[in-house]
Amino acid sequence: MTAARKAYRASIIHSIGDPAEVGLEASYEYFEDGLLVVTDGQIESVGDAGILLAHLPHGTEVVEYDDALLMPGFIDTHIHYPQTGMIASYGEQLLDWLNNYTFPAEKAFSDPAHADEVAEIFLNELLRNGTTTALVFGTVHKASVDAFFSAADKRNLRMIAGKVLMDRNAPDYLTDTAESGYRDSRELIERWHGKGRLHYAVTPRFAPTSSDEQLAAAGQLLQEYEGLYMHTHLSENRDEVEWVKSLFPQCSGYLDVYDHFNLLSERSVFAHGIHLCDDECKRLAETGSAVAFCPTSNLFLGSGLFNLPKMEQHKVHVGLGTDVGAGTSFSILQTLNEAYKVMQLQGAKLNPFKSLYLATLGGARALRLDDRIGSFASGNDADFVVLDYNATQLMQYRMQQAKTLDEKLFVLMMLGDDRTVRETFAAGQSVHRRG
Ligand SMILES: [Zn+2]
Repeated sequence: MTAARKAYRASIIHSIGDPAEVGLEASYEYFEDGLLVVTDGQIESVGDAGILLAHLPHGTEVVEYDDALLMPGFIDTHIHYPQTGMIASYGEQLLDWLNNYTFPAEKAFSDPAHADEVAEIFLNELLRNGTTTALVFGTVHKASVDAFFSAADKRNLRMIAGKVLMDRNAPDYLTDTAESGYRDSRELIERWHGKGRLHYAVTPRFAPTSSDEQLAAAGQLLQEYEGLYMHTHLSENRDEVEWVKSLFPQCSGYLDVYDHFNLLSERSVFAHGIHLCDDECKRLAETGSAVAFCPTSNLFLGSGLFNLPKMEQHKVHVGLGTDVGAGTSFSILQTLNEAYKVMQLQGAKLNPFKSLYLATLGGARALRLDDRIGSFASGNDADFVVLDYNATQLMQYRMQQAKTLDEKLFVLMMLGDDRTVRETFAAGQSVHRRG
């Protein structure tokens, strides 16, 4: 059997370390005329085309991209697929936004046909934007997760998702019980966790909508199965933080509620984490938990400004999240654009190489998947994206003035969106090509 080998020639960049730890220059590899060699859906090698082409077995197909930058696929560490149809809903902050928009939209996912339809639209949108892995909320309905995983499996994507656990403080039509939530989660785990490139996440919506019994059952699930994720929200909005305090007076703070029920682990990802004290950051770091930074959502819902330097100081893993539908774009490039502004408003900078890290390797590390995705290390999944420097007339003109790599990267991140994504690959297969 000969291996199915294919090579891709373009400018190539990938992150190899966190700039906060290794410095900017040592944080990435860049090949102006690069070659990525893919064998059987995995990365074989990456390097200068001049060197690698000479060693390529005779007859290997080489695909060439001009004026393009090839990099690992983007990683979205927090997003809600059932909210695809309610993105851009006007006028509320978190708690009213949930009641007025989110819960009614999620109700429709009791219908498997609706769930199937939205799962397809959602995955098309992710791939159109160059996102190859996401950590995804379903709804409370088992059918929502079946629909999502079966659509992701058909395309052989590396995806993580779970059924929402929610047994109080939500409309009757959208609640489970501690017992049914546990049972349904088990059934989904047995069916999907470890199938193809899929992983399951135990997914309590957030502390206010789960009883003590349900949070305890979530902790129990994490003990019962290897490699499960825990995915929820944390300290997004000041009213929410106060509400949690009043619901759990025995706990010292919001994070402590999750800690109390053994929900902090190396595979725990908390969306937002805007209003955290130093002790909470310390505890996140100690337990290896990660936080998803969701700038477009945080600005849209007026939740607050995420303090990335504080997370770096405490060595907390951080990934980037779009948080659609509170987030206003599926594009990780647009998310980096807003992340940059969130940092500016706090007198801090977001260097384009740090942005590259957050969008790829940093996300992979937050998800404990950096031995599979996030960089072009040999043996990794061949999930990658080809970005077009000339995607729009303005970008083309602006790129003519750009002198350095970091300047070009920054322009991609400020002006780029789905139009910038020329092609997206998952496990070596093309899964989106711009029309
Ligand atoms: Zn969210």
